[in-house]
Amino acid sequence: MVKTADAVIVGGGCVGTSALFHLAALGTTNTVLLEASSLGSGSTSKAAGGIRMQHDDVVNTRLALRSLQEFTRFEQLTGTPIDFKQVGYLFLLDNDHDFAAFTRAAAAQRELGIPTEILSIDAVREMVPQIYVEDVVGATFCPWEGFAAPEAVVQGYASAARRLGAEIRVGSLVVEILTDGAGVSGVRLEGETISTRSVVIAAGVGSADLARPLGFELPVHGEARTIFYSSQALGVPQSAPLVVDFSTGFYFHREGAGLVFAGRQSDPAELSEPATHRLPAIAEASIESSWWGYYEMSPDHNAMIGQAPVAGLHYATGFSGHGFMQSPAVGEYLAETVRGESTTLDLSSMTADRFVSGQHRTESFVI
Ligand SMILES: Cc1cc2nc3c(=O)[nH]c(=O)nc-3n(C[C@H](O)[C@H](O)[C@H](O)COP(=O)(O)OP(=O)(O)OC[C@H]3O[C@@H](n4cnc5c(N)ncnc54)[C@H](O)[C@@H]3O)c2cc1C
Repeated sequence: MVKTADAVIVGGGCVGTSALFHLAALGTTNTVLLEASSLGSGSTSKAAGGIRMQHDDVVNTRLALRSLQEFTRFEQLTGTPIDFKQVGYLFLLDNDHDFAAFTRAAAAQRELGIPTEILSIDAVREMVPQIYVEDVVGATFCPWEGFAAPEAVVQGYASAARRLGAEIRVGSLVVEILTDGAGVSGVRLEGETISTRSVVIAAGVGSADLARPLGFELPVHGEARTIFYSSQALGVPQSAPLVVDFSTGFYFHREGAGLVFAGRQSDPAELSEPATHRLPAIAEASIESSWWGYYEMSPDHNAMIGQAPVAGLHYATGFSGHGFMQSPAVGEYLAETVRGESTTLDLSSMTADRFVSGQHRTESFVI
């Protein structure tokens, strides 16, 4: 007998599991999430887990703010702790152009009630004395930001959704999304078909391949990013914020007894220059481990979220390195649109057809 579901989610990362959970929480539980590998095995498990409010596109700030409300009560909501360390993000700006952009964005964030502040260089020194500040023009800090455990978020959403009645299948590759005259009609797995009128593509860098056969382009491509761990904290205080040297992309934060750090370079020898410039003591650090994954890049570094021209087909991908921090609000939005309800946030400007109409909305605070 062919299985029938009210909605099928393709992809078991933070976005797919969030959508599944929110559907279930709203009462849609005849659902199936299909994950080709294991839950969280895509970009999600590779993420630094950063949660920040500081964006230059106000839609991203709204998404982050709505998501923050869920991250801060995640355990209460799902029963799973996510180790959210709300230590703040400290952006270091080394030129007037960037400082002006962050200052403008901070004003917009404060209008939304977010307490982003401009810090003096002395305040930066006091927060993290190990930072080289001589060429820093300005800095911004928001205490609501921080980092959490992406895998815990996935497991939390998944187990809560299961408890509410949703089904999750791992090792289940979706080969094709099926359509008929009325729109989406199902999904084809290897050896099985599931019948449904609603499909959510939340397949990370795999999303484009699922959409293309339907004549619909989701322009997302993978950009490899690597994260490093050193067991040496180099004297960086336990309370230190996640520090971002914005112009180079080098960032670091305390992790347990040591430090996590990364940048735009995947080769540690190449990362060494911006890293030792901003955090000179890092020259002494040994790297104990590293891992890499894909930033799922879109042409304007903003997510693509919406409904495809095929009835019943929804998508969320192309988060360009900030999908974890947006996943609660995006999952909520997907659940609301699948159910045909009015949405908590207006994300109508995030649809993928902006690349056809030329209405790009560039997010430039990409780390
Ligand atoms: C090094 C690194 C650091 C990052 N740091 C941060 C950060 O600090 N903060 C932040 O917000 N974001 C960060 N990100 C980005 C973040 O990881 C992603 O934006 C987010 O995880 C995207 O989640 P997703 O659920 O859309 O995709 P994914 O986690 O990639 O999940 C998609 C899933 O779909 C599955 N899939 C694909 N095709 C199919 C198919 N045909 N059938 C079935 N399943 C399929 C895949 O196996 C995968 O598990 C980082 C990313 C990297 C690589």
